[in-house]
Amino acid sequence: MPHAPVVIVGAGLAGYTLAKELRKLAPEQPITLITADSGALYSKPMLSNALAQGQTAPTLVQATALAQAEKLQLDLRPNCSVSAIYPQQHRLETESGELPYAQLVLALGARPRQLDFPGAELALSVNNLDDYARFRARLTPGAHVLILGAGLVGCEFANDLAASGHAVTLVEAGERALQHMAPASLSLRLQNSLQSIGVQCHFGSGAREIKQLEHGYAVSLGNGCHLNADLVLSATGLIPETALAKSAGLAVGQGILVNDQLCTSAADIYALGDCVELGVSGSSQVLPYVLPLMQQARVLASILSGTPSRLSLPALPVAVKTPACPMVLCPPDRNAPGDWHCERDDSLGAIHHFLGRDGGLLGFALAGDACGQRRQLAGRAPALLE
Ligand SMILES: Cc1cc2nc3c(=O)[nH]c(=O)nc-3n(C[C@H](O)[C@H](O)[C@H](O)COP(=O)(O)OP(=O)(O)OC[C@H]3O[C@@H](n4cnc5c(N)ncnc54)[C@H](O)[C@@H]3O)c2cc1C
Repeated sequence: MPHAPVVIVGAGLAGYTLAKELRKLAPEQPITLITADSGALYSKPMLSNALAQGQTAPTLVQATALAQAEKLQLDLRPNCSVSAIYPQQHRLETESGELPYAQLVLALGARPRQLDFPGAELALSVNNLDDYARFRARLTPGAHVLILGAGLVGCEFANDLAASGHAVTLVEAGERALQHMAPASLSLRLQNSLQSIGVQCHFGSGAREIKQLEHGYAVSLGNGCHLNADLVLSATGLIPETALAKSAGLAVGQGILVNDQLCTSAADIYALGDCVELGVSGSSQVLPYVLPLMQQARVLASILSGTPSRLSLPALPVAVKTPACPMVLCPPDRNAPGDWHCERDDSLGAIHHFLGRDGGLLGFALAGDACGQRRQLAGRAPALLE
């Protein structure tokens, strides 16, 4: 397909960062970017702390699709879903017709996990700008919001909503907040801080049923507790968007499987960002954060412009955007043998190291004034991919 373009599907941070990096390296390369959404450029991490900053969906837009198309010289096709891929023919099918590609890049993101109990569909989830606009349209001043899930996103929304004058109830099926990322004492520190700004925490039992009332909702928990709220927000995790790749016959695990050159199992099809599962040297990981996708975009731009390149990822800590208790987390691999050790834990901040059996640093968690040690510790923690 000598005259066919590089086609990128998805206009999230992964798709746009790749387009920007590729344009730098290949000024003349025809690039088509197709996306199901409006193509507006925005920072998705801002969605969970925009309220207290007085931001709305329109003010979160950093550039329109038109401005992006001009700036990056793209054939940009917004509001257009890709419905099928034919890898053998290097062709894809969209809502508005077929399109050939020389190389195809899937930057399809992740979608909210579907909850499986009566009334679960009544809960809103906020995973893109349109969701955020819907959420804001239904959020009245001082409304009581019940959040399902005390992971990163749930805790951030809880802090943001409470800080902007809303009543907040945070429900978590597990025993504590951020249980897969932080040591127990930091979970407790976060929980105490959220409670100090008015968040009610119900941990240890998940939602079983949501019922619509004349005004608001009634949420029943597994432990028999009944809670009422004006709005229910689900923050129970995201799963990589794999359906399109799977139906095209690409290898898919938890995400679209790629190697350290971001190649999928099909020739000339690559993938990056939240939709991928990196499978290298027998291990596999899904890394649904901004820093990994930035590194992936740089490597893939280099490959697509003709310079062979491989992905390597240093330890990449994640900042938890909870101003009531700022934290930086760099959790160890889930299967890593070892334990959390407290180096410091006082009213101003905390430092916890996760040490392996040989005493080596495998992860860390920081809070408060200790968050500044992020770089230094990240330099000592093991790389995610060498
Ligand atoms: C509330 C929230 C807060 C977060 N905070 C942080 C944080 O503090 N730090 C951090 O590192 N990460 C954070 N994250 C994660 C981070 O935002 C994501 O890792 C990143 O934005 C993913 O970008 P992406 O481009 O891979 O996916 P997305 O932004 O989901 O983009 C996917 C794109 O694919 C398009 N698409 C999908 N299917 C099709 C199709 N069939 N046809 C055409 N187009 C299609 C969509 O329209 C969209 O444009 C947060 C996430 C959320 C939800």
